[in-house]
Amino acid sequence: MSSAKKIDEILKYIKECSPGQEEFYQASEEVLASLKPLLDVEHKYLEHNILESIVVPERSIIFKVDWVNDAGKKETNLGYRVQFNSAIGPYKGGLRFHPTVNLGIMKFLGFEQIFKNALTGLQIGGAKGGSNFNPKGKSDNEIMRFCQAFMSELYKHIGKHKDVPAGDIGVGAREIGYLFGQYKKLTGEFEGVLTGKGLNWGGSKARKQATGYGSVYFAENFLAKYGKKLKGKKCAVSGSGNVAIYTIEKLYEMGAIPISCSDSRGTIYQKDGIDLKALKVIKEIHHQSLEEYATVDCKCQYIPLSKYPENGHAVWHLGCDVAFPSATQNELTLVDAQKLKENGCILVNEGANMPTTPDAYEFIKANGILFSPGKAANAGGVATSQLEMSQNASMAQWSFEEVDIKLRTIMNNIFKTAYDTSVEFDCEGDLVTGANIAGFRKVADSMIDQGAV
Ligand code: NAP
Repeated sequence: MSSAKKIDEILKYIKECSPGQEEFYQASEEVLASLKPLLDVEHKYLEHNILESIVVPERSIIFKVDWVNDAGKKETNLGYRVQFNSAIGPYKGGLRFHPTVNLGIMKFLGFEQIFKNALTGLQIGGAKGGSNFNPKGKSDNEIMRFCQAFMSELYKHIGKHKDVPAGDIGVGAREIGYLFGQYKKLTGEFEGVLTGKGLNWGGSKARKQATGYGSVYFAENFLAKYGKKLKGKKCAVSGSGNVAIYTIEKLYEMGAIPISCSDSRGTIYQKDGIDLKALKVIKEIHHQSLEEYATVDCKCQYIPLSKYPENGHAVWHLGCDVAFPSATQNELTLVDAQKLKENGCILVNEGANMPTTPDAYEFIKANGILFSPGKAANAGGVATSQLEMSQNASMAQWSFEEVDIKLRTIMNNIFKTAYDTSVEFDCEGDLVTGANIAGFRKVADSMIDQGAV
């Protein structure tokens, strides 16, 4: 059977077996379609039925999380852990707490994580987990009780050599602390079972900064390939969480001008550059909306959701040289991509997971805008998580500079791997193809070596 026919067959199978899991289907379609040049010349993957196998998680755990709110009432949420693939190492991937979380979102994120983790060059398999719990508006005590209830089930399925979760949307240092505390209480073990831990109890320096910094290092590599620099470039950043904040911080260090940030309620536009200090206070300390930023900084413009362009997002309509989507999936649409082109944007560098819709990506590719896929550009977070695991295993703690140098080297290598693979398959600069083929090859070869398990 031809590889094109096989890919169509598998996609049909996914649609039938995973009804309503749109994001998972979208991610699978992107990965499988880009593997065609490899499958055409290397037949062993079809002979060993690797495609059929790799699109099915090794294990999907769904559990009930009952917890008690401040009014003394019981609330119920769903918890998930999708352990997708362990061919190259123990499962690794973040936990997301957000009301939109469902099995399809977990599977899309877990699937992406397989190839991302392989690209880092480290020995880690792919997983993702989380809950439809909404942390917004909850007190610290409610967050703690929810995390304890969530871990009371999750602890049965994780372990330092088995599955090591980390943070993602809605899960930061505070939540990791409560989750770790409960794991320790239940097991009696103080072990590196979670990453993103506090610095006093086994965390790695620069883990908090790693995804944002890594995303900027990746962009720097890509631009350098075409004789360009970030210095002086106007950069539109979306989101105002962990990834966005440390993208903005590193952009300033590189001499670029980060002109925006956003959250689920609106966008801040600041022509001369976002006030990073004010942003950190509002988002990291007070967990407030960006409306608050507009009240403390009168030089900015606040664009509420109600004023966004139809089918688009204000942040991509501001006029920028480089776009850093760093909030969530499908946040950069065709309308947005067309506006980026009109305004002369030269690179879209994905800090978030799958922030670009498929039609927007097709437009970006057809119009010669450089494009860094999230599974390569945002891999700095998971890579540094693995550095945290190494430090835990050897009871060491490296300095911020040591970790940052290792992170930069890893991002340079990920770029080189994705770029060189694009050259190998005659599509120089197409990093979607380059990253997917490079990640897939490593995992698929390991699956073949390990047989039908
Ligand atoms: P975070 O700290 O929770 O921040 C998420 C940001 O995105 C917030 O500003 C949030 O706004 C915004 N957002 C979330 N859902 C949204 C929606 N539906 N519409 C508009 N804005 C929305 O999360 P994060 O860790 O920065 O993660 C951001 C992205 O990077 C995600 O795609 C994540 O999977 C990916 N990623 C993260 C890491 C990591 O190390 N943290 C690593 C790799 C990839 P509100 O506050 O208003 O909700």
